[in-house]
Amino acid sequence: MRKIDWDNLGFDINPADKMFIARWKNGVWDNGEITDYRPVPIYPSAVVLNYGQGIFEGMKAYRTGDNRIALFRPIDNARRLNSGCRRLLMPELDENFFINAIRNLLLENEEFMPPYGKGALYIRPILFGSGEMLGVSPADEYMFIIFMSPVGPYFKGGFSGIHLEIRTDYHRAPLFGTGNVKAVGNYATSLLPKSVVKENGYSEVIYLDARTSTYIEEVGSANFFMLRDGVISTPRLSGSILPGVTRDSILILAKKRFKLVTQERDIRYDELYSADELFCSGTAAVVTPISSVFFEGKNHVIGDGNPGEVSGKLYEELMGIQLGERPDDLNWFYQVS
Ligand SMILES: *Cc1c(COP(=O)(O)O)cnc(C)c1O
Repeated sequence: MRKIDWDNLGFDINPADKMFIARWKNGVWDNGEITDYRPVPIYPSAVVLNYGQGIFEGMKAYRTGDNRIALFRPIDNARRLNSGCRRLLMPELDENFFINAIRNLLLENEEFMPPYGKGALYIRPILFGSGEMLGVSPADEYMFIIFMSPVGPYFKGGFSGIHLEIRTDYHRAPLFGTGNVKAVGNYATSLLPKSVVKENGYSEVIYLDARTSTYIEEVGSANFFMLRDGVISTPRLSGSILPGVTRDSILILAKKRFKLVTQERDIRYDELYSADELFCSGTAAVVTPISSVFFEGKNHVIGDGNPGEVSGKLYEELMGIQLGERPDDLNWFYQVS
């Protein structure tokens, strides 16, 4: 095995030795197999290469303090993958097949699991049309692959806020497009806007809705939250917003654990200038505080510019549940071994 420097992991590809691959042909999925991590040959006329018929998932496996391996709400990723399959006319996967494939692969790749507190083993399931086609139509063959890569903790230098820019010249997803599933094409269109704001010194884009450029959609590939006057709000799942598992978890924790009022609604971009706290959420980002927002020539500092108290508490609670250190009455902790 390659030597991994556990203390210097970022979010870079550092593939674990083994991957999982299953194929769909003649109307059925095969049982799949674990193989060495290797290139997968597909023809130039594969539908995914020409027409983008593909989706992915993103999950993390953590090592707990007592040396167990755990996933977080994996059934929700299975369900979201299937909703993407329905939207892109691809064959669905049995939820247990999906979770078992991840379990078995995690056990094979156990030596790539960072030690407790040093990060996570990032899990990337992908499903795409590998069959050949010339006209625009669904493929007649599919591949489902899982690969894994150790990643570092998101907050290396401590819990700190990011600086964002709102853009109206780029939208993430139209209302009845594929914004609510992890379709590969959604991310191709985000590359240019992200590079534009990076050039300006910001770490991500805040996207507004494609119809009116008025309401907050998402932050790059993370969901958006606002705390104002004791109420936690997040954009409602309008159809163009990705239903994050972390987003759902935060809404539930805020209400049940912290007794906060939660709202899923349209949030106007100018509401956030007077917010007490802003943060974004996702598997990669967990809970990431937002320190400032730049728009229309003005920089708006949120609160005192430091991570807020509620953001911090939600982060601790969520990480605590994922590491098996806080009560798990919601059955979100999924023990692999
Ligand atoms: C994956 C993703 C998220 C976060 O979803 P989680 O299930 O919380 O990881 C949010 N927005 C976009 C656009 C995403 O791709």
